[in-house]
Amino acid sequence: MNVSENLTFYKFMHRQILIIIALNVFTAPGYLLMGYFYTSMVYEAIWLVLMILILPVYGYSLYKQFSINMTIVQKEIWLTKIRYFMFTYSVAWSLMFVYYISSDNLEMHYITIATQIGSGVVAATLLASQRKLFFFTVISIMLPLAIYFLVVGQLFSYILAFFTAVLTTVLLYAAKNTNDYIVKSNYQAYHDKLTKLGNRRYFLEILESSVREFGNKYSYLLLIDLDYFKTVNDTLGHDIGDELLREVARRMVMLSNKYDNNVARLGGDEFCVLSHVYDSEDECLNSAKLFSEKLLSEIKQTYIIKENHLHISASIGVSVLNNSSVDPAKYLKEADMAMYEAKYHGRDGIIVFTEDLYALVQDKLQIERLLYFAIANEELSLNYQPQVNTNDKVIGCEVLVRWNNSKLGAIGPDVFIPIAEDTGYIIELGEYILIEAFKTINEWSKNDLAIQTVSINISMRQILNKDFVNMVVKTYNQYIEPNCKIRIIFEITETSSSDNLSSLKETIKQLKEYGIAFSIDDFGTGYSSISYLSEISLVELKIDKTFVDKCSEAKQKLLIKLMVDIAKNLNLTVVAEGVETLSQRKILEEMNCDLYQGYLFSKPVTKEEFQKLCTLSTDR
Ligand code: C2E
Ligand code: CA
Ligand code: CA
Repeated sequence: MNVSENLTFYKFMHRQILIIIALNVFTAPGYLLMGYFYTSMVYEAIWLVLMILILPVYGYSLYKQFSINMTIVQKEIWLTKIRYFMFTYSVAWSLMFVYYISSDNLEMHYITIATQIGSGVVAATLLASQRKLFFFTVISIMLPLAIYFLVVGQLFSYILAFFTAVLTTVLLYAAKNTNDYIVKSNYQAYHDKLTKLGNRRYFLEILESSVREFGNKYSYLLLIDLDYFKTVNDTLGHDIGDELLREVARRMVMLSNKYDNNVARLGGDEFCVLSHVYDSEDECLNSAKLFSEKLLSEIKQTYIIKENHLHISASIGVSVLNNSSVDPAKYLKEADMAMYEAKYHGRDGIIVFTEDLYALVQDKLQIERLLYFAIANEELSLNYQPQVNTNDKVIGCEVLVRWNNSKLGAIGPDVFIPIAEDTGYIIELGEYILIEAFKTINEWSKNDLAIQTVSINISMRQILNKDFVNMVVKTYNQYIEPNCKIRIIFEITETSSSDNLSSLKETIKQLKEYGIAFSIDDFGTGYSSISYLSEISLVELKIDKTFVDKCSEAKQKLLIKLMVDIAKNLNLTVVAEGVETLSQRKILEEMNCDLYQGYLFSKPVTKEEFQKLCTLSTDR
C-alpha cells in the first residue's frame, strides 16, 4: 500500500474507534446483570472496569492523538496501536467466555456462546478494512468456541463445532469481500481509469505528505503538459488520443521507476512527477533538469498507434520543494507557472520556476488586469506604417495598435497581443481595432487619399471565433460606405491545424464578398506548407523581418527567392517587412519583391502623420 492509500485507511480506522467503544460500553454492562443472577459479580465488575473504563479511555486517547499532520512514521505507529487496541477489545469478550463456560450452569454457557458469536460477527463487520486485524480477531473469538464444542464431546456438540467452523469461514469470507471492495473503491478514488496512474487526489496527498515529511530536504515536482494534444484528439479521434495518453503514461512510469519517482495524471493531457528526496538543493535541481530532459526526449519518440506514426512534445514546468511550512499546493502552482512559461516560449521545453519567473508572471497578470480596461479608459490608439512600391510611392499601410497606460507607460503589441490572445480579450480588442480602422478607411476613401490598401492584423483566435464573420460584416456595413475605394486586407499568420483550415477557408470566402482580401503575415516562420498556401484564397504574402534582416547572406537570399517564386506562381503580391537599409531594399528589389515596409521608409505613425506622408509621396 502506498502513502495515499494508507491515508484513507487511517481516516477510516479513526472513525471506527468511537463506534467500537460505543458498542462495547453499551453491551458490556449486560454481564453485570449476569453476575447478579448467576455468580458473585466480582469478576464481572473487574472485567467491566476493563471494558468500560480502561479500554475506552485508552481508545479515546488514541482517537484524540490522530492528526492528518502526523508524519507517515507516526501514523504507522498509531495504526499499530489501534490494531492492538481493537484486537484486545474484541478478544476481551473471550475472557468472560472462558469464565462462564467453566461454570456448571448451562444457562451461562448459552448466554456466553451467543455473546461470543455476536463479537465474532461484530469483528468481521467493523474491522473489515484491515485484513490482518479482522482475520486474527475473528479466529481468536471463534476458535475458543469451536474448542469448547469439541471438548463437550457429544454428537450435538460435534455438530455445533462443525457449524462454528462454517460460520467462521463465512465471516472471514464476508469480511474479505468487504475488504476487497474497500480496497478497490479506494483504488478507484485514487487512480485514473485510463492510464492506471494515480490521479490528482493521489498526487496532492503524496505531495502533502512529502512536504510534511521532508521539510529540511529537497525534492522536485514536474508538471508536464502535452503540446497540441487536442489536435490529435480532434483530428484522429478519441480512441487514438486515449491510446496515446496510455503510451505516454507507460513511458513516464518506466523512466520514473528507474529514478524512484512518483507519477500521476492530473487530468486531460496533464501529468505530474514527484521525485524522491535530495539533501542539497543543487543536487535536486540538477537531477530535476536531467530527468526532465530524459523524460521529454522519451515522450518525443515516435508512437505507432493503429498504423499512425505520431509525434508529440511536451511543455514541462519544474519546481523545487523544500519548506514544510508552505502550502503544498503552492509548489503545484509554481510548476504550473513554469509550465505555462514553457508553452509561451513555443512549447517543447523545460522551464524551472524561479522568483524572477514569478515576477514575470505577476507582470503579465498586471498587464492582463489593466488591459481589460484599456478600451474603456481610451488608452488604445492606432498607428499606420506605410507600404511603398518599387517607386517609393506610398500605396497603403499596415494598421498597428498602440497602448499607453497611465501606470505602465507604452506597452508594445508584441507584449499585450499574446496576453489578450491567451485570455480571450482579443475578441473585444480586435473588434475595437476593426471599428477604429474601418472609420479611418472610410474617411480616407471619402477624402480621396491616394492609397490602394489598408492592412489590418487579425489574430487566429479572432478568426476562429464563431461570430467573427458576423462581427466583421456588421462593422463593415456600419462604418464603410458603398463604393469604398480602398481595399481592405486582413493579415493572418500561418496555422498548423488542418482542422482550422476548413473554417478559415469558409471565412475567407464569405468576406471576399465584401471585398476583404487576405494576406499571410510573417511568412516562413510558421508551419504552412505550399499546399496550404494554394488552398486558401490569398492576395498577398509578407516575408518576415527575420529573413529581410539577413538578406545579404547567400542562404537567406535563396530562401527569399524561393518564397517570392512561390508567391508569384500563386499570383500573390510580395511585401517585404522590416526593411531598414537601402542595401536590403536593393537586394529585395532584385529579387522581385513588390512592396516594402520598414523603418527605411517610415516607422508606424499617427493617422495625421500618415496622411501627410501620403500627400508628399509621389512616384519617383
Ligand atoms: P507584425 O504584424 O509582424 O507587425 C510588424 C511589426 O514590425 C510592427 O511592430 C512594426 O512596428 C515592426 N516593424 C516594421 N518595420 C520595422 C523595421 O524596419 N524595423 C523594426 N525593428 N521593426 C519594424 P509592432 O507594431 O510592435 O507590432 C508587433 C506585432 O504585434 C505585430 O507584428 C502583430 O503581430 C501584432 N499586432 C500589432 N497590431 C496588431 C493588431 O491591431 N491586431 C493584432 N491582432 N495584432 C497586432
Ligand atoms: Ca502584420
Ligand atoms: Ca509580420
